[in-house]
Amino acid sequence: MANDTDVAFPVLTGPDLDRLVARGHPRPVKVGDVLFAQGDRNFCFYIVLEGAVDIIEHASETPHVVTTHRKGQFTGDIDTLTGRVALVTARVVEEGLVQMFSTAELRKAIDEMPDVGEVIVKAFLMRRRMLLEGGFVGVTIIGSRFSPASHRLRDFAVRNLVPIRWMDLDSDVQAEEMLRTLGVAASETPIVIGTKGQITRNPTLEQFARCAGLVVTLDADHVYDLVVVGAGPAGLAASVYAASEGLDVLTADSVAAGGQAGTSARIENYLGFPTGISGRELTQNALIQAQRFGAHITVPCSIRSLGIDGGDRVVTLEDSTKIRTRCVLVASGVMYRKLDVPRFEDFDGAGIYYAATEMEAKMCDGEEVVVIGAGNSAGQAVVNLARHARRVRLVVRGSDLGASMSRYLVDRIESMDNVTISLNTNITGLDGDGHLGAVRMKSRDAAEETLKTSALFLFIGADPNTSWLRGCVELDKRGFVLTGIQLAPETPRLERWSAIGRAPFLLETSLPGVFAAGDVRSGSVKRVASAVGDGAMAVSFVHAHIGARV
Ligand SMILES: Cc1cc2nc3c(=O)[nH]c(=O)nc-3n(C[C@H](O)[C@H](O)[C@H](O)COP(=O)(O)OP(=O)(O)OC[C@H]3O[C@@H](n4cnc5c(N)ncnc54)[C@H](O)[C@@H]3O)c2cc1C
Repeated sequence: MANDTDVAFPVLTGPDLDRLVARGHPRPVKVGDVLFAQGDRNFCFYIVLEGAVDIIEHASETPHVVTTHRKGQFTGDIDTLTGRVALVTARVVEEGLVQMFSTAELRKAIDEMPDVGEVIVKAFLMRRRMLLEGGFVGVTIIGSRFSPASHRLRDFAVRNLVPIRWMDLDSDVQAEEMLRTLGVAASETPIVIGTKGQITRNPTLEQFARCAGLVVTLDADHVYDLVVVGAGPAGLAASVYAASEGLDVLTADSVAAGGQAGTSARIENYLGFPTGISGRELTQNALIQAQRFGAHITVPCSIRSLGIDGGDRVVTLEDSTKIRTRCVLVASGVMYRKLDVPRFEDFDGAGIYYAATEMEAKMCDGEEVVVIGAGNSAGQAVVNLARHARRVRLVVRGSDLGASMSRYLVDRIESMDNVTISLNTNITGLDGDGHLGAVRMKSRDAAEETLKTSALFLFIGADPNTSWLRGCVELDKRGFVLTGIQLAPETPRLERWSAIGRAPFLLETSLPGVFAAGDVRSGSVKRVASAVGDGAMAVSFVHAHIGARV
C-alpha cells in the first residue's frame, strides 16, 4: 500500500508520462533557474524530464529543501489550481529539461486524463496536508487565545488551509519575547507577521488574507455566467456542476469555503461515507474539485447587495466593486443564533463559540465546557469536545433529547462518562472578566447553579443570511428566500416574467435568473445532502435561463 510520501511525490512513467508530456511545452533549464518563487501568483506546473528541481521553503528561520523532483516527478500543490500565491520556491539544481503547463492546460489534462489527473490531484492534496501537519510556517499570528480577534484570525486560517504558526501570549514565553523584540505592545495584538517579515497589527480578515496571499483581483468588466454567493455545500455543489458543464463561474464567500458543514467535526449521514467524514475534509475536497473544473473561488468576499442592469444581474461587494453576471445563485445559508442573556456581547468570541472543530476542541483540553442545543450539530459538538475536555455539560431547554437529535448521537452521548445532560434547563447569566469565567443556569424546580467554565458552545438554531437581498427578492416571514411555486401567485404575471415568456423555475426567486439553494431557501431540509442536491439542480435551471436568452 502506498504511504503518504508515495502519494505526495509519485513518479510518472511509461504511457502516462508520454501522454501528459505531449500536452505541455518543453523548457531547457540550467542550474539556478527559478521555475517559480515563493509569493508568485498563477505559477506554472512542471514535469521534470531530465535533471533535478529542488522545492525550497523559506518560511522557517532557515530555508530548507522540502524535496527534490527528478525524472517523472512534478511540481505544485493545491495552489497550482487555486490562483493563490506559491508557498515555496522551485529551483533547478541539475541542468536538464522540464515540460511546462499553464494552469488552464493542467486543468484540461486532469479533465481529459482522469487516471493521471487523480494521481496529480491526490499528490497536491497530500502535499498540502504534509505542509500543514509538518509545522510549515506560512504566517505567524501572535495573540491571546482568549481574544475574539485572535480566534477569528486562527479560525479563518484553519478554514482556508493557510499554514500558520500560532504563538499564544498566555502560555508561550517566546510570544512575549517576540513582541518585545518587535516593539509591539500586548494591547496591539493580535499581530500577524507575513512571510516577508511584514507586521500587521490587529488586521481585518481582508488584510490577513492579503498577507497570506489569498486575495485574487476580480475583473469588474467581465460578465460571468453564474455568480454563486456562499461556498457552503450548496454553493460548492453548484460550482462543481456549473464549472464542469462549461459555465464561467465565480463563487464568493465572506469567510471560507465549507459553510456550516466545514465546521462539523464528523458528518455521519452523508451518502457514500459509511464511517463518516469530517466536514472539513468533505468541503475541502469539494473546493478542490470545483477549482479543478475551473470555478473561480474568492474569500473573504462578502456580497453587500444584488441588482439588475439591463440584461445582467449585478452583485456589489463590500468594497463597492460591482460584478456583472447572467445568473446568480443565492447559497448564503444561515447564521447561528445568539443567546438572549445579560452580558452576552461581553463574551461573544471571548469564550462563546459557534463551532467545535479540532481547534476549539484542543483549546478545551482538560477543562469543563458547556454546550447548549438539542440538534445534531450540538450532539456532534459534544462528541468531539468530550475527547479533549475533562467534562462536557449539555444544556437542553426541552425534556427529550431524542425529539430533535438523531438516535445514534443520543446513544453515543449517553454512553460517554464525561458528559452530563441537563434537560429542562435555561441559561440565566454569564460572568467573567474580559473572558467568560462562568455560566449560570437554572433547571425547572431547582435553584440557580453556577458552573465555572471558559467555553460555552451555542447550537441553538440559525437565521438566514439574507439581509443583502432585502427589497430585491421575495422572502418569507423569517427571511428565507421563496422560490418557484412558493412565490406570490401574481409573480409570474409581473412584467419581468411576461417579458421572458415563462414562470419561475422550481429554485428560481422572484427575480428571473436569480436562484436559491440550500439552507437559505424557504422550506429546504437543513442537511448537507439537500444543500448539495439543491446546488446541483439549480445549475440545470441556470442552463435553461441562459439558453432561453441566447
Ligand atoms: C456543527 C454543525 C454540524 C452539522 N452536521 C450535519 C450533519 O452531520 N449532517 C447534515 O446533513 N447536516 C449537518 N449540518 C447542517 C449542514 O451543515 C447545513 O445544512 C449545510 O451546511 C447547508 O449548506 P448551505 O450551503 O446551504 O449553507 P451554509 O453551509 O450555511 O453556507 C453558506 C455560506 O455562505 C456564506 N455567506 C453568507 N452570506 C454571504 C454573503 N453576503 N456574501 C458571501 N458569502 C456569504 C457563509 O460564509 C457560508 O460559508 C451541520 C451544521 C452544523 C453547524
